[in-house]
Amino acid sequence: MVLKAVREKVDKTWTLFKKTLVFMSCWGLVFSLVTIGELRVGFDYDDTIVFSTPAFTRAFKSPHQPFSPGFWKVVNTSYDLESRKILPYCMAWSLRILGFRVTLITARPNHGGDALRKEWRYLANDFIFSNGSANKHLHLAKGNYVLYFGDSDSDIVQGRKAGVLSFRIRRSPKSSYKEDYHPGSLREFVIPFTEY
Ligand SMILES: [Mg+2]
Repeated sequence: MVLKAVREKVDKTWTLFKKTLVFMSCWGLVFSLVTIGELRVGFDYDDTIVFSTPAFTRAFKSPHQPFSPGFWKVVNTSYDLESRKILPYCMAWSLRILGFRVTLITARPNHGGDALRKEWRYLANDFIFSNGSANKHLHLAKGNYVLYFGDSDSDIVQGRKAGVLSFRIRRSPKSSYKEDYHPGSLREFVIPFTEY
């Protein structure tokens, strides 16, 4: 009886070991191919990877003229007020673990942006300030981008312009930014549960 129990335990451990080995091999294979191909994925920043309305609210309340360099400096240094969106953030990390180079692209200008870039250094291989949403395709066309995620209509348009498969992230209903948002209107795939 004791022998049987031991054998069962050994069998179970061996099966688990084999499963782990298969899993690790698959991951290793995907990781190598993705790394060798230097494949990249892009994520928009505001309302895609973070809920950043509080940072903008602080800047609007500051004495700076809206959208002046001082205003952007307040926005770009108020990342302590921003909260990470659960599903998009997990997606970005999962792709990173699979070997993809993750780029965060924001339409914001770069004023005071070094601290923000530093804050995201673990997840993002590159953090791009495109200074206007119409410039994003220029960056997405450089390097082997295979996927792009964004919340705005312009994100989908920009991704497609660069020839990158683009997906829609839902905006939080609490976001103060309401324009440029008609999910599904471009017949793009809208990822569910991404508004949180
Ligand atoms: Mg956005």
